[in-house]
Amino acid sequence: MPPEASVHEIAPRSGTAFTLDKGERLTVIDPQGEQVADLLAFVRGDLDEVISSGRTLDYASRIYLTTGDPIYSNRSNVLLRIVADTVGRHDFLLTPCSADTFRIIYGDAHPHRGCFGNLAAALAPYGVAPDRIPVAFNVFMNVTVDGGTGELKVEPPLSQAGDHVTFEAECDLVIGLTACSALQSNNGSFKPIRYRIDPART
Ligand SMILES: [Zn+2]
Repeated sequence: MPPEASVHEIAPRSGTAFTLDKGERLTVIDPQGEQVADLLAFVRGDLDEVISSGRTLDYASRIYLTTGDPIYSNRSNVLLRIVADTVGRHDFLLTPCSADTFRIIYGDAHPHRGCFGNLAAALAPYGVAPDRIPVAFNVFMNVTVDGGTGELKVEPPLSQAGDHVTFEAECDLVIGLTACSALQSNNGSFKPIRYRIDPART
């Protein structure tokens, strides 16, 4: 089923970038289920300020974020707030998959550029250099942690077709968003991601 006119689609194993104004809402949709989307947000007027996994998880005292949780920057400002979430399981620990991920973890001789390469390409026109890309907020990614040993496991996403998460911008942002390229993260197949931007509420 094609997306509605106001809904954009990111093809499997690709990514995009766009601006999101203060107050606008970004809804990330998993149209088929079990597909991860890596999300980045930079402050539009100062690209040195970007979402921070370390600060956000520190202040939340949890690794699983959901409705009501803020996503903080490296300067401890709230850049995004999760205002709706039909899944409740996302990851903010692991870096975007990359050619190095596929070389090191999967042993690929000719690796795909992954979310990292897709984000770097999409964000380049906005002035974001690859080395500025931090840990992404990995929408729908299901990473479990053994509380005793700390062992991480990448499990199939809990998202089903039509599940979605909505973020509200707390300032003017540049957003990077992907349909993740890693087999393990997406239960073995590559699917599209959709997103929609809704105007600020008056
Ligand atoms: Zn990825």
